[in-house]
Amino acid sequence: MYTSTPQQLVQGLYLSLLGRAADPAGLHYWVDELANSSLDVLSERFVNSREFQDNFGDKTPEEFVRLQYYNLFDRNPDKAGLDFWTAQLETGALDRDDLPGAILDGASESDQEAYRAKLSIADYYTSQVPQERYDPEQPLTYPWLHSNAELYADLNRLDERYDTLDLEQVGASLEGNPLYRAEVGHGDKTVMIVTQQHGDEPLGTEASLYLLDFLAGDSEAAREIREEVTVVVMPRVNPDGFARWERQVGGEQDVLDPRRNEANVDLNRSYDPEAGFDPEQAPEAAAVFRVLEEYQPDLLLDYHNQNNYRDAEGDLDTMSIRWATNEAVDPQVSADGQRAALAIAEALEDYDHDQLTLFPGSDNPAIARNGLALEGTPTLLIEQRGLQEMDELAQGLDLDYSALASALTLEGLISMKGVIGAVADDSFEDYDPQLAARIPERSERIQFADLYGDDAYTTPETSPTIPAEEAALVGVATAQEDLIA
Ligand SMILES: [Zn+2]
Repeated sequence: MYTSTPQQLVQGLYLSLLGRAADPAGLHYWVDELANSSLDVLSERFVNSREFQDNFGDKTPEEFVRLQYYNLFDRNPDKAGLDFWTAQLETGALDRDDLPGAILDGASESDQEAYRAKLSIADYYTSQVPQERYDPEQPLTYPWLHSNAELYADLNRLDERYDTLDLEQVGASLEGNPLYRAEVGHGDKTVMIVTQQHGDEPLGTEASLYLLDFLAGDSEAAREIREEVTVVVMPRVNPDGFARWERQVGGEQDVLDPRRNEANVDLNRSYDPEAGFDPEQAPEAAAVFRVLEEYQPDLLLDYHNQNNYRDAEGDLDTMSIRWATNEAVDPQVSADGQRAALAIAEALEDYDHDQLTLFPGSDNPAIARNGLALEGTPTLLIEQRGLQEMDELAQGLDLDYSALASALTLEGLISMKGVIGAVADDSFEDYDPQLAARIPERSERIQFADLYGDDAYTTPETSPTIPAEEAALVGVATAQEDLIA
């Protein structure tokens, strides 16, 4: 089911032994070398390299094992793993160049998944960045999800940093958390992005922060987009639900479903134009409507997370999408949602950590995808993987999903940039909406235990944090920076 290409093998050497993504020239060189050699020989050459010796030559065996767990899986080792692999190095049973492969061979399914997630991110970066702009310090993953306070701080930081971005509070949740909209660009065409109407579906929010940083920034690509498109983002429409999820993770019992708002309302059932909704019970939905009213977007993207679905080849769906399917929606309105679907499919072609499928259609007029389209706004629902993991974490699972979440966040970001870029350069209009139906239907639902097997509830005895200087060395994201060039 999973085979490694020469590129992935070399990228794996960079990740594990040098703690960075390959630069484009380096990747090219070592893929050529690999054709006439073996992975073992290359591993030895990496360990003998000046870069390795300068950065890691003086690490103790235990420090080196910790570093490998971070470089490969983005997590701290459990005590048993740490002791075992340290002993392997100390007794000389393994050399340092053999360690990454040995750890990977015995890795659990979730660890292997984390490794593939990191590889995909690294490979995307290497394939996108020109050699002269390559940055060895480029963070590939971020530590974990933004809390509400961290989200608001980052939004305000973006607002202060960029004259090109305008941040405004447009409402408050029932618990009094602020609801923001961020606007970038001044083009005639308007794209609106809504994230996290369901509190425990946070990855679109993470992606939208990178998007705003990119769009507001100084690149030629961003300047061109700002001329053509106005982008308005409402990140984390249900902050109260997310805070409740965090409390569940902290061990609190009997917490109201974090999907819902504080009045037990599913915000994504507020959009039926005939039925309406009670703004007292759902001020968050009322804020969405105010922004819609103000901007009258040409397209609305609604980001969610869904459970796990796996196809016959064993590959997991990373994203399922669907346009408005209610039969009373004007076909021209649905067609623009289909064009957005095709723009996403095209944008994701360059990214490994991606399996795009069609979310099963429902005619329910109360969901944003249908309800807003009935009023004339083209919509696309985007459901990324990750909800099942969020739910397991809420139930007390102690696993670190930061590598997976980072890979899905990058997928979300690529999808957003793909749609906005297509709207900006008018290629959006060239998509034949009929073709969207060729995207495969969503795969079969798979239970968490079937996916992760025995390791699902193993709890590390200790969870030591990575020493600060080591974390800096391997490039843990410490600031809100654009993930890709
Ligand atoms: Zn949802």
